[in-house]
Amino acid sequence: MASESGPQYVAAVDQGTTSTRFMVFDHSGNEVAKHQLEHSQIMPKPGWVEHDPIEIWERTSSVIKTGMGAAKLEAGDLAALGITNQRETAVVWNKRTGRPYYNAIVWQDTRTDRIASALDRDERGQIIRRKTGLPPATYFSGGKIQWILENVDGVREDAEKGEAVFGNTDSWLIWNLTGGVNGGVHITDPTNASRTMLMDLETLQWDDELLGFFGIPRAMLPEIKPSSYSEGYGTTLANGPLGGEVPLTGILGDQQAATVGQVCFEPGEAKNTYGTGNFMLLNTGTELVRSENGLLTTVCYQFNDDKPVYALEGSIAVTGSAVQWLRDQLGIISGASESESLARQVEDSGGCYFVPAFSGLFAPYWRSDARGAIVGLSRYNTNAHIARATLESICYQSKDVADAMAQDSGVPVEVLKVDGGITANTLCMQMQADILGVPVSKPVVAETTALGAAYAAGLAVGFWKTTDELRDNWNEGERWTPTWSDEQREQGYKGWRKAVERTLGWVD
Ligand code: ADP
Repeated sequence: MASESGPQYVAAVDQGTTSTRFMVFDHSGNEVAKHQLEHSQIMPKPGWVEHDPIEIWERTSSVIKTGMGAAKLEAGDLAALGITNQRETAVVWNKRTGRPYYNAIVWQDTRTDRIASALDRDERGQIIRRKTGLPPATYFSGGKIQWILENVDGVREDAEKGEAVFGNTDSWLIWNLTGGVNGGVHITDPTNASRTMLMDLETLQWDDELLGFFGIPRAMLPEIKPSSYSEGYGTTLANGPLGGEVPLTGILGDQQAATVGQVCFEPGEAKNTYGTGNFMLLNTGTELVRSENGLLTTVCYQFNDDKPVYALEGSIAVTGSAVQWLRDQLGIISGASESESLARQVEDSGGCYFVPAFSGLFAPYWRSDARGAIVGLSRYNTNAHIARATLESICYQSKDVADAMAQDSGVPVEVLKVDGGITANTLCMQMQADILGVPVSKPVVAETTALGAAYAAGLAVGFWKTTDELRDNWNEGERWTPTWSDEQREQGYKGWRKAVERTLGWVD
């Protein structure tokens, strides 16, 4: 424990794409409190995905209050609070009134495809790749901010005055938690900033040339502070949802948080998170590795004044959201977990493949002209085959990324550490082991995203002294080992690659 008399716990808010969680952990990394609420997915047009920032702030307040109340905790029990968040999703608000100008434009939203492809047609694309480690794509925040500046009345004028400000949801929540219109702090960390297309990966500063590409005034942007920050970004308000002052000392984008929660602190250590999308991150240490196989280079974390640690990332846009699609659009299951019982009704996918390229294809293809397809169908196929092909698509997309990572790093994955909502699906995890041909391992505490944010915050205040202490907290909960023959694996993957080919170039 931190001390006999000091606070015994660290808290984290995980502001995700589908829901917001509040969690409290003890020194061993065990869960002490948890509450979670979903928020609305607003889809006004094909390809557009928005969230209401006010709803997100209200849900955050609510999960904090309910989580604290249910576990009978008070602010004084908490050594620190960390924040982790859906990355890239862009909020622009007025810091005098506290009102957002527009809904948050979510990372999956493709409305900025023209902005992204124009950048890629001239030398700006190469400059963006070199400075940010990212290919121009609709995924990242820069184009989303430009869209708001160009399409919402009054924002540009207010931005020039420094009144209209931008943040990902970490900045939005921290600004609200630390006082909002009454002096809230406007900050972010390098992991979030590294997903905007606006930050130089080497200096960890906003870059004027990049800002110029998008016409974004510098005054809009939050100050970049370390991901684990002993000085603290600020404290929560006494009359806020925590009901007391707690130091805010950690911020990590959700995927980087999961990497920290999975204690991938050494170069060569990797994890794969299965949520709305899938995200595999490989720690490359203080060395900035540039991908030759369609992966992103990103900041993994920066603890205080230490050198930043970088990662290679394979981002997949649609995995869990394909399961949501089976539920909400096709109506063939009534809940996500039913994807497993339905798929178990058949032994294989009956020759069909589903490529859920709803937002184009992200890593390793980066093709915004791709759209989804179900191929290989015959009269024989049923809902059960479609469910099975959906789960397989999650695993095949992860294999594409794992192969790219092995090529970039020269080191094949030996065991895949996994976490995220879909890992509750044991059939899907078995398929992953079969398709990859390596064991898949899930920790006891599977809420690694919230845990990682708690670790960043707790390290900053000395609640945990070293990353070795955190390593001791990691314990394997479940493991799946491959059962397929090499031939089965090759055949299956060949079909997948053929299916992917069919989806490319669908949009002109
Ligand atoms: P996020 O942090 O991105 O909001 P989560 O880690 O909470 O995501 O995972 C939620 C996603 O996982 C949803 O898209 C849901 O469809 C999917 N999911 C949850 N449980 C299962 C399950 N048993 N089988 C398949 N998919 C699941």
